[in-house]
Amino acid sequence: MATTAPRKQSLKERISTALRPKSSGKRLVRKSLDYSDLDAEGKLSRATSAGSSASKQTRRSTVDNTPKVDIQTGERRDNTELLHSLAHQGSFDSIPDFVEPRWRNHDAKLGNEIFANLPDGIWERVLMFMSPADAACLALTSRPLRDRIGVDIWHTLNLPENRDHKINFLVLLDSYFPGHLFCYPCAVYHLRTQKGQEKLKPTIVLNPLFKCPWANEPLPLPLKLRIAPGHTLPFAFVQLVLRARHNSPSYGLPIHSLARRWKSRESEWSHQTSYYYHKGHLLLRVISKSFAMPNLPPSGLRHLLYSREDYFPYFSACAHWRDGELMNLCKCALSHIPKPKESIAQQLQKGPQIQLGLRNVNPIVTLCSNCRPMRRCPECPTEYLIEIKFEEDRTDPNNRFKQAIVVTRWSDLGDGTTPMSAEWAACNGFAEYDSFGKLGRRGISGVFESQNGVALPGQRMLSLNPRNEKLGEEGHNWY
Ligand SMILES: [Zn+2]
Ligand SMILES: [Zn+2]
Ligand SMILES: [Zn+2]
Repeated sequence: MATTAPRKQSLKERISTALRPKSSGKRLVRKSLDYSDLDAEGKLSRATSAGSSASKQTRRSTVDNTPKVDIQTGERRDNTELLHSLAHQGSFDSIPDFVEPRWRNHDAKLGNEIFANLPDGIWERVLMFMSPADAACLALTSRPLRDRIGVDIWHTLNLPENRDHKINFLVLLDSYFPGHLFCYPCAVYHLRTQKGQEKLKPTIVLNPLFKCPWANEPLPLPLKLRIAPGHTLPFAFVQLVLRARHNSPSYGLPIHSLARRWKSRESEWSHQTSYYYHKGHLLLRVISKSFAMPNLPPSGLRHLLYSREDYFPYFSACAHWRDGELMNLCKCALSHIPKPKESIAQQLQKGPQIQLGLRNVNPIVTLCSNCRPMRRCPECPTEYLIEIKFEEDRTDPNNRFKQAIVVTRWSDLGDGTTPMSAEWAACNGFAEYDSFGKLGRRGISGVFESQNGVALPGQRMLSLNPRNEKLGEEGHNWY
């Protein structure tokens, strides 16, 4: 059978086809988006204002309860639930209101059959071994279980004496609320007022992430970690970065957005913070640095190390810095700074005595066996390294290179579930923690530095407080 092959178009014909005006005969014009033209799926409806009644009819027909399949992700979407969730302005007051739609997908029939086979006595026995939070979680799994356990479990959870259980339960629902953040003083999810725009700012700047009646009240909870004078890390930021990491970016902030570098206004100290995610925990590193003169008298050492504001160290330290050797180790390291290099002519200008050693001073300082090793606070997951480094001072044209004391602190800030989580509370001095028992030989510093392929030289890890003195401000070692 003979087939007629399509005629090959000439170049001229092909160009004229390509340049032919579109059948609509209209030019594309930019049209400002009118939100009334959006249907329930967020698509622009084609109806014009002339045919508004017809378009409303069409729009109504698109809002039905059948789940839609998202073209891009392939997920089944429930438009009704989407619209209800948009209507929420504050926190969810009623847990049953929130969980009811989630039960729709469960096969209640099958569940009923399984649970009906178990005698009531068994359920009572099971519940006896459960905390109110665990029982509430079980009741949340399906309607038949809720009917078995009873709605009283929500009321029990709401009693003042069960506040901790209520918090434990609500924290587990975190992945359902990307637009909210759990507030511990209120035990409620607050709406994030700066969603996606949250920025870590100095302590002096008011920076509320949600509206909370307790925002400016002093509370017996570690809601902030002191980094350096005038700089703290609010717990809400730990929540934000760990939520984003565990769920999706819309839940919070990327970890690198917390990193900062600043120079203190009231002292010579400069600080650099960075964060790292490791096995569900947020790790912090603060490098604090200040140029230091050799042979400082005791008053000069205090002037260099302590903030005049609150007599805390200028560098970053955990809540246990007063107990143990931290401040003595810094003073010991400072005592190793050599006198600056002086030629014989310079020495003779001062007097007839000369020291030949001062002609060639080695700028690389070796610390002693006391102040060189890494130290770990025995009461919280924090490690310290004190170094004396030869650094460039760009602000001083006469004496460009100077010795500087560098104190690096690494801390494990915990898993961000509650401010009373073991690591966060211990770093703030709110809970007991056995760091030598819990941390492995590699330590927090080793884990943190390994992310950049830097292997810390093998060092002994000594205790910051070898005699385990716990005198706090009453002790004599800290000043
Ligand atoms: Zn609150
Ligand atoms: Zn030393
Ligand atoms: Zn500590």
